[in-house]
Amino acid sequence: MEIKQSLSYILNHLGEHRKNYFNAVSPPIIQSSNFIFPDFDDFRKSIKDELNNHIYTRGNNPTVEILRKKIAALEKTEDALIFSSGMAAISTAVISRLKSGDHVICVNDPYSWTSKLVVDFLHRFGVQSSWVDGSSVESIALAIQPNTKVLYLESPNTATFELQDLEACAKLAKANKITSIIDNSYASPIFQQPAKFGIDIVVHSASKYLNGHSDVIAGVICASSTMIRTIFQSNQMILGNIISPNDAFLMIRGLRTLKLRLDQIDRSTRKIVAFLKAHSKIEAVFYPFDAEFPQYELAQKQMSGCGGLFSVQLSTKDPHKIEAFYKRLELFLFAVSWGGHESLILPFCCFFDNPGFQHPNVPLNLVRFYIGLEEPELLIQDLDQALTMI
Ligand SMILES: *Cc1c(COP(=O)(O)O)cnc(C)c1O
Repeated sequence: MEIKQSLSYILNHLGEHRKNYFNAVSPPIIQSSNFIFPDFDDFRKSIKDELNNHIYTRGNNPTVEILRKKIAALEKTEDALIFSSGMAAISTAVISRLKSGDHVICVNDPYSWTSKLVVDFLHRFGVQSSWVDGSSVESIALAIQPNTKVLYLESPNTATFELQDLEACAKLAKANKITSIIDNSYASPIFQQPAKFGIDIVVHSASKYLNGHSDVIAGVICASSTMIRTIFQSNQMILGNIISPNDAFLMIRGLRTLKLRLDQIDRSTRKIVAFLKAHSKIEAVFYPFDAEFPQYELAQKQMSGCGGLFSVQLSTKDPHKIEAFYKRLELFLFAVSWGGHESLILPFCCFFDNPGFQHPNVPLNLVRFYIGLEEPELLIQDLDQALTMI
């Protein structure tokens, strides 16, 4: 294998020019808003290509640039941009391909704020949208209109894990001159690289696996050099939704262990899912690599692992019993988000019967788990004793 293509090279060395900073192993945090120029000519040249020169940190900062190179290489795209949040990356990617009068197709039940972007936000600017069952390429094809410009995918999503056939979707989008965008946060580039299937733009909430330590909010966009240049020049520089050099440094540090973390989490999760599937208090398991998952074959075709997110339906619909179960757990923390070192539980019943809050499109007794880096045997033991409360 070519060293420079290897995952370990990308995570440990790519983009790092250590001679430029005292041969330090770890890159410096260039906490500077501004960069100086020795002469007029130098400035004149740089200002024509702000994406690749250091002029001002809203554009290109050296610490962020190291991260950008690594993220693009991980997703096998020509270039990438880093943002202040996953939603900054998602909204910027979507907006960059649209103008008033255009139409977007979005798969059902994406991340909650993505859904608000597509409806509340884009409608304000005269962009129409259609929701489709993403598990059926035919229903996506039927939703295409002459003014459709974006096909937005999230495969799998992060509550019930429906997939889209990435190869078929990319083909359909290309044939109709539509930009395909995917939120790849669930699988991470370790387990799924959508660009290989022809998807145009890959976005992530880097607050999840890419940073991986529950201490940074960030997002990324990965795409061709041409698209990245447009998104940078006509969108990110205007919206100004960049990551700080300090958070970029933390993300570079988080990435060093990306593969180790994901491999460990994936192995543990397989064991825990197998345990829960056989448990009498569990009615159903939602996990793409479960052989009974409706899109199991597709998951096997386009993903090499699932990571740590899955959901179960408990054998009770009584929120008090579900709460008693949670309170008995010693190792699982109740929180939104996921992708860090710590195992989490998210009981969806908490989103129901909350006046003024629209509940999600999931069963009341659905509980999402995220498996972190704890010993899987201990997590199983913890679940086993807490399930007696149901
Ligand atoms: C968390 C999340 C987002 C939003 O990312 P932020 O970094 O919180 O803005 C988008 N998509 C998915 C699938 C997520 O889990």
